[in-house]
Amino acid sequence: MAFILGLTGGIGSGKSAASHWFEQQGIHVVDADVVAREIVAVGQPALQQIQAQFGDWVLLDNGELNRRALREHIFQDPAARTQLENITHPAIRQSIRQQLRDATSPYVILVSPLLFETNQHELTQHTLLIDASIDLQILRASQRDHQNIEQIQAIIQAQMPREQKQALANDIVINDGHLEHLYAQLRPLHLKYLARSEA
Ligand code: ADP
Repeated sequence: MAFILGLTGGIGSGKSAASHWFEQQGIHVVDADVVAREIVAVGQPALQQIQAQFGDWVLLDNGELNRRALREHIFQDPAARTQLENITHPAIRQSIRQQLRDATSPYVILVSPLLFETNQHELTQHTLLIDASIDLQILRASQRDHQNIEQIQAIIQAQMPREQKQALANDIVINDGHLEHLYAQLRPLHLKYLARSEA
């Protein structure tokens, strides 16, 4: 199997900007957020399991998952959150594994905002943290999503603190300048990963 790099960073740190750059270099990127949506699409076993666990109210009239209702339900009930994660996390992991296996680029990237929090780094051989100050994270995420600052702060609070991620990551890129500055830092890492993938 190819060399697998785990790429992470808090909301607004620049994970997507970094992973798009790697994609432009021909590197296949598996996005854990995309997989998390795919495994609960209509017809997927995980969606049927969620319906069996919680009831028909979890579905919209068109059969799709009612994300908002489910989010509110688990927000108020930690046991329900665990029940949900017991369904989704194994399905996400299995699908990620399959997609990483199927990739044919010299190395493969798994990008995930919760790489360390959900132990998805166990699927990787090496990790890269895209890091930025909380002020920059809030500024970028609020400009991108038009979310209010309180919502973004709540997401940051729920993610692993920066210092902990810094201690766990093998490589760290500080994304505190222009995008060109980000790319200039990614270039030597890309060469390093290419060399490692050939080893
Ligand atoms: P994440 O995926 O980590 O949540 P993004 O990569 O989507 O973060 O970045 C958040 C927003 O900030 C995006 O609109 C992105 O284009 C922008 N951005 C990221 N890095 C920079 C940078 N160095 N300079 C300017 N804008 C940036």
